[in-house]
Amino acid sequence: MEKFLYKRNTNKSTKYNVWFTFPGCYSFAMSSLGFLHLFKTLDIVDDINVERIYTDTNKTLIKYGDVNVICFSMSFDMDFISVFQIFEKYSIPFKSKDRDDKMPIIFAGGPVITSNPIPYSEIFDFMIIGDGEIANTEAIKFLKDNKDLPKRNLLEELSKIDGIYVPSVNQEKILKNTCQINECIYTPILSDEAFFKNTFIVETSRGCANCCNFCMASYLNLPVRFAPYENIIKTIDFGLQYTNDIALLGAQVSIHPKFKQICNYIYERTINNKNIKMGISSLRVDAVEDDIAKTLAAAGQKHVTIAIETGSERLRQIIKKNITEEQIINTVETLNKNGLKGVKIYAMIGIPTETNEDIQDTINLAKKLKHLNKGFDISFAFSSFTPKPFTPFQWYGRFDTKILEHRQNYLKKELHKLGIGANFSSIKWDYWQAVLSRGDINMSDFMIDVYKNGSKLGAFKKSAKGKFNPDDYALRIYQTDEILPWDIINMHPGKSVLKERFLQKKCTACNA
Ligand code: SF4
Repeated sequence: MEKFLYKRNTNKSTKYNVWFTFPGCYSFAMSSLGFLHLFKTLDIVDDINVERIYTDTNKTLIKYGDVNVICFSMSFDMDFISVFQIFEKYSIPFKSKDRDDKMPIIFAGGPVITSNPIPYSEIFDFMIIGDGEIANTEAIKFLKDNKDLPKRNLLEELSKIDGIYVPSVNQEKILKNTCQINECIYTPILSDEAFFKNTFIVETSRGCANCCNFCMASYLNLPVRFAPYENIIKTIDFGLQYTNDIALLGAQVSIHPKFKQICNYIYERTINNKNIKMGISSLRVDAVEDDIAKTLAAAGQKHVTIAIETGSERLRQIIKKNITEEQIINTVETLNKNGLKGVKIYAMIGIPTETNEDIQDTINLAKKLKHLNKGFDISFAFSSFTPKPFTPFQWYGRFDTKILEHRQNYLKKELHKLGIGANFSSIKWDYWQAVLSRGDINMSDFMIDVYKNGSKLGAFKKSAKGKFNPDDYALRIYQTDEILPWDIINMHPGKSVLKERFLQKKCTACNA
């Protein structure tokens, strides 16, 4: 069952119809704050009739033949598989050039598109770069007001709007994130079938000023924006009228200047209502204090996630993580003594310049943590480094898959001996994710072939064979003077600043 937390117009005109599409199933979509918020911004416009569509949608309210626009919200490189599933279900041609003026205009936005729209150039008619709130609604309103114009003219006009990239017009774009989050963004529809059932999510900040050298969530969202404390509290109070489950969201929630006060407020509310539960995706190690740990424990959180990236002090300096081993040890101890049951530690393998000694440092740190916190549930989740556009590490390639697998197996064995649980992302899937992340125009045909070949790992290898060498995208260290596919987007803080940081100088974007 769904509960709408805003007033809907149930008597909408059906003259202009939009499918707002999530490349995944209903339960994940209903836990995606970005997807639901953008849906709401369209749903409250009187003369736009909008319906949510998922990969598991069986029956639509708006018939495909009546749809004017389809938009996709894409968060992950592999989302293209679900996009094509939806295309196939409604017999939509995969390429923009094969869809005539009678077919819906199809566009996409989200972090994957913002970081590098070029792989999708032949698939979508246009793409939203950066914050979606303003450009998304502006684009759809423009399309509605000019619906009788030919597609070619519509796209030319759209290309003049800030934040909209039209591949067929092929214009350079300067991107600035202009959306403020003064009015807190929150879950507008609660669902008991959502992955995070009936959870009211509040966005407390956008971006992260720490600017770790590999982190796309930080660089794509500069400048960092914070929702004002008073509005966060007002929004939490509003959400608590409908549910007891609250989650705070941000690239790094604990960097909010009033994070401690927000936690204190929630703590006070839990004293009067023991059913209130608060969730936080991940905490910065240097932000965990007794008060914060106490609040999390009181609000029903059993495990806390912290991201250390690596147990090697040397590598943490290289990536500019700016946390020390002492801080990591103190944090786990603080969580333990304040009533949490365990900690999950995010880390990576294959960070540029990594050696076997660095892997050993991670094992040694795990051993120390285990020894100092007997009975406390400590586990690790490892991914492998994937270069992302618009970060200082965009020029670095990955380590060879065999080296990474060897390091992964060693970690698995050693952590198992210590009785520490560890999950690992698939090195082979991460490899193909890197190919797409740093992909160019070749990727449109490649992705279509992957889909047609079954979308399993073997389909990626088969589809690239004879067309391009995927190692060139995933493994090669790029020269800093090379033209990169995504250079067509001029994103704050700009290539020269990223280059400075890649070459180990001070970052003038965030003064970190
Ligand atoms: S602290 Fe976390 S969110 Fe912030 S830049 Fe580093 S990795 Fe990204």
